[in-house]
Amino acid sequence: MIQEDILILKEISYKENDKILHALSRTRGKIQIISKGSKKSNSHLINASQIFAYSRCTLNVSKDMYILTSASLLDNFYNLNNNIDAYYNACYILELISYVAQENEVDSKVFDMTVSVISHLSNFNKDFDKLTASYELKLAAMLGYKPDFLHCLHCGSSIKDAAKFSVTEGGVFCSKCVKFGNGINVKYNEILIMDKILKSKFENIGFIEVTESIMNLIRKFLFYYIGKDNFTTLRLL
Ligand SMILES: [Zn+2]
Repeated sequence: MIQEDILILKEISYKENDKILHALSRTRGKIQIISKGSKKSNSHLINASQIFAYSRCTLNVSKDMYILTSASLLDNFYNLNNNIDAYYNACYILELISYVAQENEVDSKVFDMTVSVISHLSNFNKDFDKLTASYELKLAAMLGYKPDFLHCLHCGSSIKDAAKFSVTEGGVFCSKCVKFGNGINVKYNEILIMDKILKSKFENIGFIEVTESIMNLIRKFLFYYIGKDNFTTLRLL
């Protein structure tokens, strides 16, 4: 018997009354859980067995499956149901983390950040695309691809004006060194904004001027490193 905090990424109907849950856990990475009887309306597991449910639960481990025995719901981010943009962004976050997270991989920071961004999407009434872009950049950084926006990849000097951002090399080439690397032209202001997004908390994202071209750049950067760009939920955004 183990205690675990989980966020439900996907629920699959199983047999007459059961569900198989794909979940992100705080200390075991991505796991699959059988939730017995949770399709019955009087089940004590009903609330914790739905997509977006964030709960503290008790699991029994049997062979390669986890069995949900009890759960106390911490949040279900109910407000996501009131705003279609928030909901679609949150669906995309779940699909993204479902692809990125590995089984039996401990990464409580990624878990906490994912719960946090879903919570902010649920509580905000705007800036959903900014929150998602911020999550994408922070996720890339947590996976080990943290770009240094303020120094040139080639000569190391401080970036002081327009430069090139290289997705493949994960950094910036200053105006003197652009010939040494391939990249996308970025304004000085855009570099500062990307650095600011990386260092800011989700609650402050509304104060940052995140343009569409910055969001596109961040997405391109993340997708290059995770090796996938065809997420189904992206079509909803
Ligand atoms: Zn340089």
